[in-house]
Amino acid sequence: MRKYCEQCEKEAETKVITKREAYQVCGELIEVDAQVLVCSECGDELFCEELDNATLVKAYNEYRRVHKLLLPEEIKRIREQYGLSQRSFAKLLNWGDKTICRYENGSIQDKAHNSILLFLREPENMRTYLTENEVTLDERQVTKLLKRIEKIEEDEEFCTSCRILNLFSNIPCEENGFKGFDYDKFCAMVLFFAHKSSELFKTKLMKLLNYSDMIFYKENGISLSGSKYVHFPYGPVPNHFEILLEKMQMDHIAHIEIIYDNGYEKHQIIPDRDIPSDEFSDEELKVLERVVNKFAHFGSAEISEYSHREKGYSSTRKGEIISYSYAKDIELDRE
Ligand SMILES: [Zn+2]
Repeated sequence: MRKYCEQCEKEAETKVITKREAYQVCGELIEVDAQVLVCSECGDELFCEELDNATLVKAYNEYRRVHKLLLPEEIKRIREQYGLSQRSFAKLLNWGDKTICRYENGSIQDKAHNSILLFLREPENMRTYLTENEVTLDERQVTKLLKRIEKIEEDEEFCTSCRILNLFSNIPCEENGFKGFDYDKFCAMVLFFAHKSSELFKTKLMKLLNYSDMIFYKENGISLSGSKYVHFPYGPVPNHFEILLEKMQMDHIAHIEIIYDNGYEKHQIIPDRDIPSDEFSDEELKVLERVVNKFAHFGSAEISEYSHREKGYSSTRKGEIISYSYAKDIELDRE
């Protein structure tokens, strides 16, 4: 990307470098690896809103990790399991109208609020809370919520779902691209690739997911889905991929159809719903489109071969996690 450099007084080539930076978060100095845009000629730092925002998110998440605070998407998941709107959830807790909304959008919650949210994650505790506190929700809403709790406790499938998601680390670190695993985003990415390809097989899907996460991380300092990737003989694979595919089938998001082709078993991804319209930002969509276009004419074998040449792959061994720190070496347009 070319940008105007004030130092050089002209448009110049730019590059992204990583450097240690300290940020004030809730009165504490938090150090993170920041990605900054610099002029390739003089090395001066250039302003880039996206990178700045990504670094800030990283610093916030690091603060959350240190203080063992729930992530915004975890707060959202707690609320959604009870079928509550942001406003009713805040009301139930006797918090300000906008409090939940702010937390889900990335503001840091205070510690007392965090403890209450953690407690209410368990349906059993929510029932206790409802019976022991004078809540400001109207009776109809309370009845509805109690029914929901009952349903959650009875619903084995739901419990299995929760257990599955608990397999995934929610603490941002270099292995997940500084983002807790986001199941909804992951599903939306699968749907995106399934709809944008004439036919999509499992092996290719894994590579498309990997490239999107790595490229987005390289350019924004945070991954898209928060998935970790494991070194497998045929390329990088999202961690617990088989379990995720099963869950997606259970949730009627997408399923696999086995096709026999010349004695080979091929696993085709069949989407069961549309690409969600509100899951991706413009920047995220752009990366997904670049990845799908780049590999449009690659078969599973070709894309495997291509990904084997990545440094992250060649520097790790079978079964090891491929850290996002290798993302800096990934190029979509190399030969
Ligand atoms: Zn310059």
